[in-house]
Amino acid sequence: MIYDAIVVGTGHAGIEASLALARTGFKTLALSISLDNVGYLACNPSIGGTAKGHLVREIDALGGEMGKAADRTLTQLRMLNRSKGPAVQSLRAQVDKYKYHAYMKRVLEQQENLTLRQGEVKEILTSGGAVTGVVTEVGLTYSAPVVILACGVYLKSDIIVGSVIRGKGPAGFTRAESLSGALEKLGIELRRFKTGTPARIDMRTVDFKKLEVQYGEEDIYSFCELSKGVRATESVCWLGYTNERTHEIIRKNLGKSPKYSGLIHGVGARYCPSVEDKIVRFADKERHQFFLEPEGSGTVEGYVQGLSTGLPADVQLEMYRSIAGFEKVEIMRDAYAIEYDCIDPLMLKPTLEHKEFSGLYFAGQINGTSGYEEAAAQGILAGLNASLKLRGMPPLAVTRDNSYIGVLADDLVTRGADEPYRMMTSRAEFRLSLRQDNADLRLTPEGKRAGLVNKLRWTHYRKKVADIEEARRICSQPLPQDKVNNLLCALGESPTCNPMDAVTLFRRTPVTLETFEEHFDILRGISPAAVFDVYVNARYDGYLKRQERLRGESARCEKMPLDITDYSAVEGLRMEAREKLNKVRPSSIGQASRISGVTPADINVLIIYMGRKNKTS
Ligand SMILES: Cc1cc2nc3c(=O)[nH]c(=O)nc-3n(C[C@H](O)[C@H](O)[C@H](O)COP(=O)(O)OP(=O)(O)OC[C@H]3O[C@@H](n4cnc5c(N)ncnc54)[C@H](O)[C@@H]3O)c2cc1C
Repeated sequence: MIYDAIVVGTGHAGIEASLALARTGFKTLALSISLDNVGYLACNPSIGGTAKGHLVREIDALGGEMGKAADRTLTQLRMLNRSKGPAVQSLRAQVDKYKYHAYMKRVLEQQENLTLRQGEVKEILTSGGAVTGVVTEVGLTYSAPVVILACGVYLKSDIIVGSVIRGKGPAGFTRAESLSGALEKLGIELRRFKTGTPARIDMRTVDFKKLEVQYGEEDIYSFCELSKGVRATESVCWLGYTNERTHEIIRKNLGKSPKYSGLIHGVGARYCPSVEDKIVRFADKERHQFFLEPEGSGTVEGYVQGLSTGLPADVQLEMYRSIAGFEKVEIMRDAYAIEYDCIDPLMLKPTLEHKEFSGLYFAGQINGTSGYEEAAAQGILAGLNASLKLRGMPPLAVTRDNSYIGVLADDLVTRGADEPYRMMTSRAEFRLSLRQDNADLRLTPEGKRAGLVNKLRWTHYRKKVADIEEARRICSQPLPQDKVNNLLCALGESPTCNPMDAVTLFRRTPVTLETFEEHFDILRGISPAAVFDVYVNARYDGYLKRQERLRGESARCEKMPLDITDYSAVEGLRMEAREKLNKVRPSSIGQASRISGVTPADINVLIIYMGRKNKTS
């Protein structure tokens, strides 16, 4: 059976990759070990969060599906970091994980050009350095010039509870038995990573009087620009704390925890520690907070965010029951640690195509990342790049200065991931202009070029751009002096006789958009998103200009190409730099400068070397 493309995995990466290919006209096959884990939220029943919310909005801006799915299945919405600057404000939605799965499965089933099929891939077929297809465990062969591996945490995965190890995937799904071996046969190195999840408890056995309720927020927009009437406060979450008795139980049983007993060696996520890790790493802390989150409206299961563990089942119950409010709690699913194989992303090009096998792409947790959003971002990137390559068009222009997706891809293929990689705003040096609310301004035109942005989204985008232009025009008009002074006096500022426009007023610290709109109605009728964009760009003008200069400098280095095949031949380079450069084979001086272990001195050597090379060629 012949296809244009095959996507192995229907997790968060596989979904976006399959849809990107099918929606740009390619006959695509999406295979999964089980169709019951399509879009399965193996861990927290939530989408978004700090920096992750930015990724979801960028996926949406490119024409992806995750934002829409979250809006249609969310039960609570919160804007994180409200008290901080707009660059780090990020949406986080509690979603109904069963409705999320059902929604995504329906979208894949109904997508034109897409065939959804249950089947476990055991082998990757290649010929002459190019991928040609896959073979499944039941002996079916599918051919295609593009194969995207989005196999997540299933490659030879082991679930560990105390000293009990079972060869299973998340939540007991069947694991991928043979693909690891097939990848090693192709010379693709594998590493062992690990993560963990908390128990799922019966919410009817919780004493909520002893926990703090967490409500959602009403007045915020959704992940998807096109979503209307999102119900943001359907459910609540609860905040609770561990105590000294909990810590005592964990300390007493630390030797039974797979990580501390030495049973598992996989590298874990620094930013998603198990409760054992927290007790060891932050021994001075009297209590650790956790959030109790409903898994869905159709179940009593609750997810205990922050208390993931690999301790034995009996110890887990004792530990959970030591917590105020959980004295009579019943566990429905044990917490567990999971170890799995993943690849070294330094083997990939910035398009996520493998350097040695044309047409073979990797996306998601298999690349050493952690998180639904990070996975989906890689899925749409790999899917669109494969689609563009099939059409002989240049790859998706996502870079460190236009998107978090660009930061994610560049970090993976340039710096690698020695532990599960989680996106954070601090990773983005140009984060001031990579706000979640302007993702469409940064990426929708590129999604249009790639063919994934439909007419409705493009019209919406054009309208927003026009609104911003109109808002900018209005905000550069001089304002009535008396009204300006009324506002300044109301804010305890001294009146002025200098003519002022809104842009100038926005730069004044005490002037917020809310106080401005209380005194002026000149922006009434313009979309709030457009007004917010003009307001933020005016308010942070100084910082943005400084960032622009930095961007100019880094863009200059990005434009300095590197086409050296063997760095050990470059005189003056240090040994470590030669090794790292030969492994990554950067395409530009800019990318070379971000490789860990390559110093500014090495970069100077490269610039001089390329200068001489270009002169003689
Ligand atoms: C226990 C656990 C805890 C986690 N904790 C966190 C956390 O705290 N924070 C966080 O951000 N993220 C966490 N995650 C990670 C999060 O679940 C993943 O990042 C995300 O699901 C990765 O998406 P993906 O698309 O790469 O892979 P997955 O969602 O894992 O999907 C992989 C897909 O590939 C399919 N597949 C695999 N091998 C084959 C094959 N050979 N043939 C056919 N199909 C195949 C599977 O059936 C599945 O559909 C956790 C995951 C687990 C399992």
